[in-house]
Amino acid sequence: MDDQGALPPHVLIFPLPFQGPVNSTLKLAELLSLSGLHITFLLTDFIHTRLVRHTNINSRLETYPGFRLESISDGLPEDHPRSGERFMEMLDSMRAVTKPLLKEYILASGRPVTCIIADGILGFTCDVANEIGIPIFYCRTLSACCLWVLFCLPKLIEAGVLPFKGDDLDAPITSVPGMEGLLRRRDLPAFCRSGDLSNPNIQLFKTEIQELPRAHGLILNTIEDLEGPVLSYIRAHCPNLYTIGPLHAQLKSKLSGTTTPSSTSSSNSIWKEDRSCITWLDSQPSKSVIYISFGSLAVITKDQQIEFWRGVVCSGTRFLWVIRPDSIVGGDWESNIPTELSLATKERGYIVGWAPQEEVLAHAAIGGFLTHSGWNSTLESLMERVPMICWPYFLDQHVNSRFVGEVWKLGLDMKDKCDRDTVEKMVKDLMEARKDDFIRVTNEMGELARKSMGEGGSSYYNLDRLIKDIELMNARSPHG
Ligand code: UDP
Repeated sequence: MDDQGALPPHVLIFPLPFQGPVNSTLKLAELLSLSGLHITFLLTDFIHTRLVRHTNINSRLETYPGFRLESISDGLPEDHPRSGERFMEMLDSMRAVTKPLLKEYILASGRPVTCIIADGILGFTCDVANEIGIPIFYCRTLSACCLWVLFCLPKLIEAGVLPFKGDDLDAPITSVPGMEGLLRRRDLPAFCRSGDLSNPNIQLFKTEIQELPRAHGLILNTIEDLEGPVLSYIRAHCPNLYTIGPLHAQLKSKLSGTTTPSSTSSSNSIWKEDRSCITWLDSQPSKSVIYISFGSLAVITKDQQIEFWRGVVCSGTRFLWVIRPDSIVGGDWESNIPTELSLATKERGYIVGWAPQEEVLAHAAIGGFLTHSGWNSTLESLMERVPMICWPYFLDQHVNSRFVGEVWKLGLDMKDKCDRDTVEKMVKDLMEARKDDFIRVTNEMGELARKSMGEGGSSYYNLDRLIKDIELMNARSPHG
């Protein structure tokens, strides 16, 4: 890098093609760009089209020198839903179609690629990197606590813990080191309940996670102060670990030149954000509203929706609810809503199809978050010091919600229940009865997270280390 005329490092970033990973990985891309690295951010055509349609992404990224937003086929037909449930089809298709295209793309790229940063579940990217002779970093956008549980899947199988059927979900799990006395069967990723070791998710995570050490390093969107004990177990397998989260807050703080996240954010949404909810929030009293969102992939039945709705309405709390157009089984959720729910919603509720979530969570009117415990949502809530009620849907969310409720004490774990009485009680507990306790803990944890991003903090230091390591790779490469 000291050489006159040396090219800046060029990093090719390839995220998992879902809203959550795309959102946080784009923040990483911007952070690297702010440090002078050139980035090619490679999306699948499907995600690229939607991102460009619903955001100002192109004009925003244009401001970064050497930033390219490109796309590649995932091999699926246009009308494929690309839903969480059909992830295996997507992965198979990407292995067959995207893998050779990726190799061709890199070889034909006008600019030599210094290194690849790819989602660790896309193991074929490591094969491509090895074939071409380019270093690769894996990036995982889920929590370290879940990653460690996934690392332990072979151990769970060996110990006879898996398979189990969906009964006695309170049985303790003792074969995940560091989590003895904490985990129950119900806290394992939901696919563990299948009762069948040939379950494709068990098979996938059992093998792919063990492959993580193949990469030069592992980048995690987490904080040492939050997940330190678990991270030490992961380090035994992946010693070169970069804990650089929360990425959204790191980017905000770098852009604003302060460690206090600003209240506005740039959208990376693949749905159209309905900003009218911010105007509605502006007219609500401080900390009076519970925000309800189950992220970008969760799907619920109409019966579950009505139970949630009744519970929240009976709690008397104001609410802002994101109901994605594709999130209710069977669609058409707006017909036959009981009159009392419609009336109560007009009085003290607001429903949108997609919200500017980071901005919503930062709004003074928000006092709680009923969430599916996606990792991005959890970190966004933590940073804004908003306590959570957790209703996990799949993957890492069951582990995350256990940690939110029992380890970090940032909220209440409501997993496996959404009857109206439970919902009403939990909302009242969070927003009224135990409000002060939660405010105290969320403030403490939020402060720890904020410090991690400031100079001398672990996330700040690790991001700097990642950038320096990439610069060193570039200096050593024939093009550096
Ligand atoms: N999100 C948003 N608007 C919404 C709902 C979600 O912008 O109405 C964003 C949210 O801020 C988060 C991402 O979508 O960054 C969801 O990621 P998460 O990991 O929480 O859950 P997933 O969607 O992957 O299940």
